[in-house]
Amino acid sequence: MAVPAAADRHLEVTQSEIPFHLADIDEDDISAVVDVLRSGWLTTGPVARAFEEEFAARLGGGVEAIAVNSCTAALHLALEAAHVRAGDIVLTSVYTFTATAEVVRYLGAHPVFADVDPATGNLTPASVTDAYNRLSPREQARVKALVPVHFAGLACDLAALEEMAQGYGWSLVDDAAHALPATSHGVAVGRWGDATAFSFYATKTLCTGEGGMVVTARKDLARRMRVMRLHGISTDVFDRYRGVDTWRYDVVAPGFKYNLSDIAAAMGVTQLRRLDQMHRRRVDIAAFYDEHLRDVDGVDIPAAPADGELHARHLYPLRISAGAEVRDQLVRELGGCGIGSSVHFIPLHLHPYYRRTTGHRPDDFPVALRVYPRVVSLPIYPSMSDDDVADVVDAVRAVVTRYRRRGALAGVTVAPALAGRA
Ligand SMILES: *Cc1c(COP(=O)(O)O)cnc(C)c1O
Repeated sequence: MAVPAAADRHLEVTQSEIPFHLADIDEDDISAVVDVLRSGWLTTGPVARAFEEEFAARLGGGVEAIAVNSCTAALHLALEAAHVRAGDIVLTSVYTFTATAEVVRYLGAHPVFADVDPATGNLTPASVTDAYNRLSPREQARVKALVPVHFAGLACDLAALEEMAQGYGWSLVDDAAHALPATSHGVAVGRWGDATAFSFYATKTLCTGEGGMVVTARKDLARRMRVMRLHGISTDVFDRYRGVDTWRYDVVAPGFKYNLSDIAAAMGVTQLRRLDQMHRRRVDIAAFYDEHLRDVDGVDIPAAPADGELHARHLYPLRISAGAEVRDQLVRELGGCGIGSSVHFIPLHLHPYYRRTTGHRPDDFPVALRVYPRVVSLPIYPSMSDDDVADVVDAVRAVVTRYRRRGALAGVTVAPALAGRA
């Protein structure tokens, strides 16, 4: 098989591997962690508290931030505090990671999926209304909460979703795993709705290895979440040992073990201080990709934020118009050039568990079904060099150009093939 010249050239210019993601860890993070190790206090304590306070201040104050050991824990705590109970229904996006929906099952409630906007991959009032209208009146009465996801770091229209949730009497808990520091209508994600869940998982825009934060302006939710975060004990370990009778505590509910260690929180504090710097680099990389991939036939760049809006740029989800076959081949060929990429997301209703429990057919969510086979997430993280970013562009152009020459980008029908692969 003749290898086209463009791809050949690329193989030569790629000197080193470009992983899909590399955590941004600097000496400040390392010495902050070492300081905690030397302090003798490793679990939730003064550093976790400082991280919570600085995080809340970063969002503009007037909210409480509660540090937890994952975004999954944050979502679970928020829905539990919002009184989602067995048999209830939670509306959420079909185009997300399983964590968003699995927490609903933790509570014995049922996730009901809504399709997404074709341009952004986000829920809209129209798509949520569609999902709601498909429910029977009895099911509609059981809807307790709406959980939008800010796909790739581009915020949903939170004003519209909040108004909708208030109109129906639902809680609004947003999954902001991708969305630090994003805004909706100029207001930080984290200041909307009833509670917001952030992730500090290794690949996210702020990382503590594993970690998360749940943010709320509601005192009642904050109080419940603080208790449920640590075994249903009415105060934190830290407060407990400051008291006189250091051994005394009250268990008021069967809580969870979701507290964040000071070891992890130490990195949170130092990373938060350079969040703007890390974010600027992500924005610059996205701008470079946009500029150099915008005019390539057969690919579509991701949706841009509205003027004045912050996009967190957690992911750069490029779309390959030809569909699954070419997308899959692109992922493999980038891998062959030492460039990592990924796919976000396999729509939840295509996974065996959700398929079995919801009874959905693949084409029940036509937008997610159309977007998923075409999407490929390119590497985007602060430690990528300009050369790395240029190499990714060259590699994508080379592969896509070769497929276009072969006519493979003319538009392949992908839906039937998908039904089999799901
Ligand atoms: C990463 C992610 C989560 C889970 O975050 P953890 O901190 O790993 O629990 C939840 N939702 C979405 C959309 C994610 O991408």
